[in-house]
Amino acid sequence: MALITNIQHFLNENGEVPELNSETMELLKFLIEIIESASIAYERPISLASVNCRAVTYGEKCDGEIEVWIDPDSHIIGWECLECEEEGTISNWEKTQWDKRDLVQH
Ligand SMILES: [Zn+2]
Repeated sequence: MALITNIQHFLNENGEVPELNSETMELLKFLIEIIESASIAYERPISLASVNCRAVTYGEKCDGEIEVWIDPDSHIIGWECLECEEEGTISNWEKTQWDKRDLVQH
C-alpha cells in the first residue's frame, strides 16, 4: 500500500508540529526519520533509512529495512521497505527543520 504524504499537512502555519494524537505522532516520527535519512544522503542515489518498517501484516510487525531516495527533478522523497510491499512518498519537506541538506554542504 503506497503512503502518499505531504509533510506540510502535519504542521501548523508556523511550520511547527501541533498537538497530534499518538497514532498520527507515530506516523510523523517515522516520516521525519525518512526525511532526515534521505536529505543527509541526498547526493546518493539510494540509501538506507535510520528507521525500520512499521507496517503490520496479519498482526505481525514487519521491521524490515527501508530504502530512501530523492527524485532529482521533483525533490519528492521515495521510500520502500525491503521486506514487505510498504512504500510511499513525502513531498514539501524542503526547508523544514528536518531538511539536513545544508549540514553536509560546505
Ligand atoms: Zn515492511
